[in-house]
Amino acid sequence: MVDLKGQYEKIKDQVDQSVLNVIESSAFINGPEVHAFQEELEAYLDVKHVIPCANGTDALQIAMMGLGLKPGDEVITADFTFAATVEVIALLQLTPVLVDVEKDSFNIDPEAIKKAITPKTKAIVPVHLFGQCANMDAILEIANEHNLYVIEDNAQAIGASYTFADGTVKKAGGIGHIASTSFFPSKNLGCYGDGGAIFTNDDDLAHTIRGIVNHGMYKRYHHDVVGVNSRLDSIQATILRAKLPHLDRYNAARQNAARKYNAAFYGNDKIITPQISKSCENPICAGCNCHVFHQYTLRILDADRDALVQHLNDNGIPCGVYYPIPLHSQKAYTDERYNEADFPVTNQLVKEVISLPMHTELDDGQIDFITKTVLDFVNGRIFLESRIKNQESGVRSK
Ligand SMILES: *Cc1c(COP(=O)(O)O)cnc(C)c1O
Repeated sequence: MVDLKGQYEKIKDQVDQSVLNVIESSAFINGPEVHAFQEELEAYLDVKHVIPCANGTDALQIAMMGLGLKPGDEVITADFTFAATVEVIALLQLTPVLVDVEKDSFNIDPEAIKKAITPKTKAIVPVHLFGQCANMDAILEIANEHNLYVIEDNAQAIGASYTFADGTVKKAGGIGHIASTSFFPSKNLGCYGDGGAIFTNDDDLAHTIRGIVNHGMYKRYHHDVVGVNSRLDSIQATILRAKLPHLDRYNAARQNAARKYNAAFYGNDKIITPQISKSCENPICAGCNCHVFHQYTLRILDADRDALVQHLNDNGIPCGVYYPIPLHSQKAYTDERYNEADFPVTNQLVKEVISLPMHTELDDGQIDFITKTVLDFVNGRIFLESRIKNQESGVRSK
């Protein structure tokens, strides 16, 4: 699905030297590299505060702790996302309220958010799924009206931008009250281990969070609040510093690959290619920075998605199903509050989606082979060939 080795080889000299420098310096924790990375990411994202931490799941949890959410507070998030989002809500004894998503964008449905709001609702967590922002015009409007926090889960969309209806453009992660991201190796900006960060433009919130990530300490050995230990280490920070200047180029390479996939599948009525919201009317364009393609996810109609997965695997092509089970149906998160009729889209998407290989090193030959293999299957040529083979062997055995 990804080619981390190929990407590393192109920046090997710089990465190796940076890592060696950290080892030589022995400043492994909270060293100057972490601080420098923090400042460089603040400038890149145009946010006032970046607080690095240990991983993207911690980042979400710490964001919620920083906002002072209390047990019983309701937090609305998408039913169709990675489990980390709902996991931390549950861990903090907040009440997760899962809602349906939009079929075209895979992102949280603002109409479903509106229906889920109660007097206990305190926050909305839009997940910018697969590399594209949720409908932030609508979400901010709902949040303002009901006085709710907006926590962006930006683990999949770093470097993406969002154009508001009035033309304002903001980077994903700099839109809500607070945001989280992950530097897991396969994310668009990945380190070589675990890493994450929290972003906010709010000075007080940033101060609170800097204490929370460090055992609730604002002054050495004075623990004012219950905190956690969540750090980005210096070796990961120096790798991220080496990679950050390439992030736009990496995202452009993903968009380029997406554009080629789109062109190959264009007009096929069994394949729905990823919709790019707003600012782009061209059906085969994938060049806007409104989508950074963490995943390239198709919907397969009128064909057996699971058999397609098998067919791709048989041909040596990795693929993924993100996500095969709605969160409201997961054992850990089922709840009698949920009603199947409220999740028509997620229940449908889990059966239709398939994500193809997507990374910075995809070449034309690979894309041609992948698209041809997908098209052979959905256009029925595979079944035809196997029928013919069966007939032939039948003839021979007679
Ligand atoms: C990857 C991811 C996370 C968690 O990040 P980790 O660094 O693996 O903890 C959270 N939310 C979403 C949407 C993700 O894709």
